[in-house]
Amino acid sequence: MRPFSYQRATDASSAVQALAAAAGANDVLTEAAAQPLAGGTTLVDLMKLDVMRPTAVVDINPLASTWSAIALDGGNLRLGALARMSDVAANSEIQRSYPVIADSLKLAASQQLRNMASLGGNVLQRTRCSYFRDVSYGNCNKRSPGSGCAALEGVNRSHAVLGTSEQCIATYPGDFAQALIALDATIEITGKSGVRSMPFAQLHEQPGKSPHIETKLVPGELISGFTIAGQWPRSVYLKARDRQSYEFALASAAIALDVEDGLVRDARVALGGVATTPWRAHEAEALLKGQKFDDGLAQRAAEAAFAGARARQHNAFKIALGKRVVARALHQAVAMEV
Ligand code: FAD
Ligand code: SF4
Repeated sequence: MRPFSYQRATDASSAVQALAAAAGANDVLTEAAAQPLAGGTTLVDLMKLDVMRPTAVVDINPLASTWSAIALDGGNLRLGALARMSDVAANSEIQRSYPVIADSLKLAASQQLRNMASLGGNVLQRTRCSYFRDVSYGNCNKRSPGSGCAALEGVNRSHAVLGTSEQCIATYPGDFAQALIALDATIEITGKSGVRSMPFAQLHEQPGKSPHIETKLVPGELISGFTIAGQWPRSVYLKARDRQSYEFALASAAIALDVEDGLVRDARVALGGVATTPWRAHEAEALLKGQKFDDGLAQRAAEAAFAGARARQHNAFKIALGKRVVARALHQAVAMEV
């Protein structure tokens, strides 16, 4: 581990100033010289592996008194970025009105990690690509821009089939982000010039030619919260993985439906474990809307969700698995009693 300075923020403005002061002029957020510290379950891990090398760490946990609230108000939800995964997953109103959120958090990591980990840190977690996490590999465009991609011709069983580029095929590993993108969440960002918002769907960048640029945040900006309009009691998160706990998704689906008398009035479909970013399957949604639900419709929606998928040597199974996960999650959502 390399030496770094540690500073404990007292409020949002001191956190933002400390981060901006330590950031280099051309930094991208994920490589920035100054990193905020929330639960530390990604940041400290990657610092120990020598993948992330901040010279300054700014502890934002003192902001939790204002940034960890779970507020359901007038039918809309606001989640503070420092709310812990376990607290949100265990909240009875979230379980009732947003089961897709509760399940995406409950099925992630382990209880100990969920007790430490924050929502803001969760959506900014880095890929689990082993070539990225092991600095003995020289060629990783995400860690070392322009160096190549060891995964293209290497072991790529866990890698993405959607949203890839010739520069990077790393999977976005989180679960919660799929629930957010399915529910059209907005994120609130606090920076030097105040607070701004953007659709959560715009936060993550596909790898394209610059896989090291992962989000639209700039150094010095903090995620302060997430908002979701309306409630989605008919929603599920289904996750397929190599073992039933403490494992990342091979394929997952976040589904939210509005169904009346078997007719799908509205549909949200998001995919995890198969794409380079949190992935919304708009083609599948278009097929579902306005149709009577049956197994044939579920299968056609699943096909549509993966129409643009591209497999590499070891990960073609994800396309078949992902389709089954989508179809089964749709059936589960339709069968819910709400
Ligand atoms: P930190 O480690 O503190 O921060 C992560 C990154 O975000 C850092 O770069 C930090 O600077 C930045 N950051 C943190 N908060 C903010 C903020 N408010 N604004 C701006 N930047 C911020 N996740 C899943 O979804 N599913 C899984 O199955 C899963 N399994 C796991 C298994 C293991 C063994 C481990 C170690 C982790 C696993 N995770 C999984 C990831 C885990 O959920 C994340 O590490 C955690 O959510 C990150 O939150 P944190 O608060 O600890 O973030
Ligand atoms: Fe690096 Fe992306 Fe290639 Fe993995 S897939 S080695 S993260 S460039």
